[in-house]
Amino acid sequence: MTTTTPSTPACGRCQRVVKLSGRRWPEGPICFGCYATAMQTYAPCTRCRHHGLAPGRDDDGALLCVPCSGINVSYRCQRCGREALRHSKNLCGHCVLADRLAVLLDDGTGQINPDLKPFYDHFCAMPRPRSGILWLTKPHVPPILRALATGQTPLTHDGLSTLTPWRSVAHVRDLLIASGVLPPADRFLILFQQWLDGWLADVDPDHRKVLQRFATWHILRRLRTAAARGPFGYGRNQSARNTLVKAADFCAWLDTRDRTLSTCTQADIDTFYARSTETRPGAHMFLKWCLTNRVMPKLTIPTPRSQASAPISARQRLDLIRRLTEDDSLELRDRIVALLVLLFAQDVVKITRLTLDDIVGDGDQISIKLGTDPTPIPAPFDGLVVRYINNRPNLVTATNPGSTLLFPGRRAGQPMHPTTLRLRLAAAGIPNLTGRTAALRQLLLHAPAPIVAFLLGYAPSTTTRIAEETGDTYKHYAPGDHQK
Ligand SMILES: [Zn+2]
Ligand SMILES: [Zn+2]
Ligand SMILES: [Zn+2]
Repeated sequence: MTTTTPSTPACGRCQRVVKLSGRRWPEGPICFGCYATAMQTYAPCTRCRHHGLAPGRDDDGALLCVPCSGINVSYRCQRCGREALRHSKNLCGHCVLADRLAVLLDDGTGQINPDLKPFYDHFCAMPRPRSGILWLTKPHVPPILRALATGQTPLTHDGLSTLTPWRSVAHVRDLLIASGVLPPADRFLILFQQWLDGWLADVDPDHRKVLQRFATWHILRRLRTAAARGPFGYGRNQSARNTLVKAADFCAWLDTRDRTLSTCTQADIDTFYARSTETRPGAHMFLKWCLTNRVMPKLTIPTPRSQASAPISARQRLDLIRRLTEDDSLELRDRIVALLVLLFAQDVVKITRLTLDDIVGDGDQISIKLGTDPTPIPAPFDGLVVRYINNRPNLVTATNPGSTLLFPGRRAGQPMHPTTLRLRLAAAGIPNLTGRTAALRQLLLHAPAPIVAFLLGYAPSTTTRIAEETGDTYKHYAPGDHQK
């Protein structure tokens, strides 16, 4: 219970002694909170059944429309006829928002840019136009919208990425995606872009330009290509960040030797590669890019040997495969994923993208399409695959009833997340990366690198490099048409 004194009157509706809105309704003065709630209440009037704004309350607290409530103000917009809080003069917030947005989206002809019309419709349909009006008054927002509307900035994800500041741009991007103007972009890609803007702002100004070029033309381009093929996840986002951080470290290291990228010498490169292995893997991509783009003089960049931990032994791999085919205490899905890693050297990201169409069977033999041609699945693994296909999880929920994904996730139309698979493998005691490398090496002992690449969906250059590292038996194999 609150006490009221004549000097501090309580709200006539909620009876609280709080800041009053200055309006007097039949119950008495109305506080800001009650006023805001009332002006967003749309419902049938309990007295006349008119469906519209219902700000009034009868003695029992039931909802009443404006005329029935005795509130002596018209809340009807003079333009659109909507009953709502009037934002300016006689116009409702929706009409004011529509007017202001139309001005910003003018393509120069006095009309809204037709490509942005879905964005306009989507934005104007927001239930609380006041927040939209406020957003448009922020200093960074109008320039972004104008740049897109006039065509000064292309209406694409790439175009958006050239605009700042990232928070405002990110919101515009979300709205463009939600309204169907732009295709969905990978969430991790966007997170990376947001990180990138902040990071570039903080790097040494002397190195910023080249790092920005590298990030835009190399890193982001690769990430976008990856994102177009499917969700690329946390790992790739982190490794893209790591590459840039190491590239900046390399520039800083050159500084300590009084060199720049353009005056860098072979001795610098050799010293750098002879140093601890920590910086090298990340910086390698940057150095190669610098060479191709003539940011650096023509120098020889050593080929880094794989930094991954040593692969598991052939014996360990066979033991694991045996355990996976026999151990029924492990979940079937995890066994299938692990066997794809250990038998076919498959990457978990690629595994998540497999569909039922990738499993082909003709009676006795079932095969899996990992590369260009189907690879036969050996027994008893084939039996496990068939059993799994008939019992795939995550199909009973409403989100995924007809999914053809081999590993459907919980979200509509989405596969399981690669990170989830990695964590499940780790929990089952399956070494993912070292197991995959071991599998690839074993396979390369039994078949030429281009054939392995062809069957398992690897780049021929990757299998050839690993075969060279392993000292493969098929060094003199003529690659023919499999390798370009
Ligand atoms: Zn109140
Ligand atoms: Zn009424
Ligand atoms: Zn209106």
